[in-house]
Amino acid sequence: MKVLEMGLQGYQVREWQQFLISKRLMPGGLPFGNFGPITQKATIAFQTQQGLKPDGKVGPKTIAQAKRAGFRPIGDNVTGIPSDTVDFSMKRHPQKEIQHGASAKHYTFAPGIDVPFSLEQKISRMADKYFALTGKGLHIFSGRRNAYRQADAMYRKFHDGDDVLKTYGYSSLAYEVKATYDGSVKAKKSKDETIKAMAETIQQQINRNAYISKHLLAIACDVDPTGVNGKTLQLAAATVGKVKVKHEKTPHHFHVQWEE
Ligand SMILES: [Zn+2]
Repeated sequence: MKVLEMGLQGYQVREWQQFLISKRLMPGGLPFGNFGPITQKATIAFQTQQGLKPDGKVGPKTIAQAKRAGFRPIGDNVTGIPSDTVDFSMKRHPQKEIQHGASAKHYTFAPGIDVPFSLEQKISRMADKYFALTGKGLHIFSGRRNAYRQADAMYRKFHDGDDVLKTYGYSSLAYEVKATYDGSVKAKKSKDETIKAMAETIQQQINRNAYISKHLLAIACDVDPTGVNGKTLQLAAATVGKVKVKHEKTPHHFHVQWEE
């Protein structure tokens, strides 16, 4: 982890501030995310309390001691992003005040999407963390899918020339759905007929417990990417559990899938 000191900003600073606030060394309700004099003073207070050199900089020794005192930086739970490569480029985000006891939802759903309770709980936790890190909410436009919704989503990708096989990891399931799509197109079937045929293929797969997408299992959602930082989204999603976040086209979005 990069040494945190005066003048830096970003999610690691926010996490450190959250820790200081939880230890009552720093007041809540202040603009958040910038390492300024208040954060420095609180850091010195922590270091003094712990018998560390009170230099006001958050280096490896301070981090190690803080972890013993309950500091849990979420970067620790994320694989694939070494924490020292996570950028500090959050300057564009407006500084928001910390919300105390806020029960406000930090996510919205597109009309008509299907989100069972267990999935909404995951989305809610991810969105709360994303809000804590950025001051912004998330918009979700796809949740649980049945075979028909899945076919509809895949039809759009095939039709727009997206590399669907790649998106679905070149799985045999994806090849099956592609074969159905190709057959329908060759037979000059209508869009509705093609989607219906694809849905039948997907339903047959489900019937043998083979799921082409985590959306079918209600452990994935699609996030509107407008103004969303992908790395921060991945960090926020990782607070829920082991996760993969994929940047996808048609439509342009972040696909978030948990392992269970
Ligand atoms: Zn998705």
